[in-house]
Amino acid sequence: MASLTVENYVKTIYRIMASQHGGSVTTGQLAAALGVSPGTATSMVKTLDAARLAAHRPYEGVVLTRAGRVLALRVLRRHRLVELFLMRTLDMTWDEVHDEAEHMEHAVSDLLVDRIDAFLGHPEVDPHGDPIPRGDAHGLETHEPPGARMLADLAEGDTFRLARVLDQSAEFLRYLTESGLSLGAKGTVERNPDGAGLMRVRLERRTLALSLDAAAKILVTAA
Ligand SMILES: [Zn+2]
Repeated sequence: MASLTVENYVKTIYRIMASQHGGSVTTGQLAAALGVSPGTATSMVKTLDAARLAAHRPYEGVVLTRAGRVLALRVLRRHRLVELFLMRTLDMTWDEVHDEAEHMEHAVSDLLVDRIDAFLGHPEVDPHGDPIPRGDAHGLETHEPPGARMLADLAEGDTFRLARVLDQSAEFLRYLTESGLSLGAKGTVERNPDGAGLMRVRLERRTLALSLDAAAKILVTAA
């Protein structure tokens, strides 16, 4: 098993690459995301390059190799299945499970994670709507659910179903819970924008004013 640090680096490179739809990741981006100095990030990138998990291109940045991508997806698979397992079996909330999974993602064996997957009925997404990577001996893949859009981009009268949350800080998730916005929640856009830089959405039991900034961190599908 790769070291905890190696796993965290490949996972972070993968997530940044996915968020910008490919392309290389600068060591500055990596250092900021991991909370380390640029020098620390640069020397770790060289280690990943030597292990053939990433390719470092001077002045451009770093990209994952196929082996690096498979390792990143294995870590994300463990993380996301552990999150869902904790929620389903221990009644933890979606703002509590991430921190626990950050530790457990490095500790659970592939055997255990496959048993958790079967126990949960081979779920497609985790508690935040992130797709759970799956695959076989040839490697893992993720399948982004098609047709997801930012809530902020919807127009008046559009109906939606909350599919995924991009900002997974405990604070933002608790704010969503208090607002009645859970995964799968359905609503209709009443106004966008409402004139004050907010959008108004009607949920089953209430009407809500949301900042466009918050609504840009929520992905929805058509209801
Ligand atoms: Zn998650």
